Amino acid sequence: MKYALLDRGDPLSRELSEQFHSLAAAKGLTPDDTSPDLVLSIGGDGTLLQAFHRYRDQVKRVAFVGVHTGHLGFYADWQKNELAELVELIATKEPREVKYPLLQIEIISDTSATSYLALNEFTLKSVDGTLVAGININDEPFEMFRGDGIVISSPSGSTGYNKSLGGAVIHPSIEGLQIAEIASINNRVYRTLGSSVILPKHHHCDIVPDPEEPLFVGIDHLVLQMTGVRSIICRVAQEKITFARYRPYTFWNRVREAFIGSGTDKV
Ligand code: NAD
Repeated sequence: MKYALLDRGDPLSRELSEQFHSLAAAKGLTPDDTSPDLVLSIGGDGTLLQAFHRYRDQVKRVAFVGVHTGHLGFYADWQKNELAELVELIATKEPREVKYPLLQIEIISDTSATSYLALNEFTLKSVDGTLVAGININDEPFEMFRGDGIVISSPSGSTGYNKSLGGAVIHPSIEGLQIAEIASINNRVYRTLGSSVILPKHHHCDIVPDPEEPLFVGIDHLVLQMTGVRSIICRVAQEKITFARYRPYTFWNRVREAFIGSGTDKV
């Protein structure tokens, strides 16, 4: 078993990384940053997003596991006091492999067409303030958006930025993408649906901005500035991310614990 480990870089995450390496060496696990079977992240959900982007070219063959240094996360679902148990399970147990859908984003400009994979979401904002962009669904005009921005999320990203925008939480076994608006301005000229929209895997949406407009393009935690963008094609990717599950994980328990609480608190 070859593993790669990425930590957040703060003192606690680094210390846990050191601990992990010693425990792993004692169990005969081999560190390999180039061609690992398992990619571990130690930090938070943001650290797992970084690990995903570092190894996205190998996403078809690697599996991911996340350790959280604070409260449990959605991707980082092991806690810092469970490292020894995790290493023991990695060394001795065949994990259940759970696959989550990813987004594929193709950004077409005058000079290039570049494809990106996102685990959580793709975000589009204008550098100068209000974003104006047409949204087409399956090559048919759907609405003309004007407002602060547009977020296209994956099912597992639906509990991130999307949820703060009032989007629905989608179980990651559902292959689809969700379009959510950030503060749309609605009047006679610019009219949007106003609620989030969920597209199935065989549909796609195109965002058509003004190519003169400078844009902030967010792919998970990464933000790029671009101009000359003619269209952005968003669809469910063919690739999926694989999580190695060494013990049961229930998505709805994670949602309840993160947003509602344990249910044992007195009113
Ligand atoms: P960060 O560390 O500030 O993370 C923000 C929070 O998002 C953290 O608490 C993290 O645990 C949580 N998060 C990340 N992915 C999640 C998911 N799939 N479900 C539930 N919570 C999730 O910033 P970062 O490390 O750069 O993370 C980037 C992510 O932050 C983005 O992908 C986006 O989903 C999220 N975000 C949220 C908002 C918002 O809710 N208003 C705004 C910007 C970004």
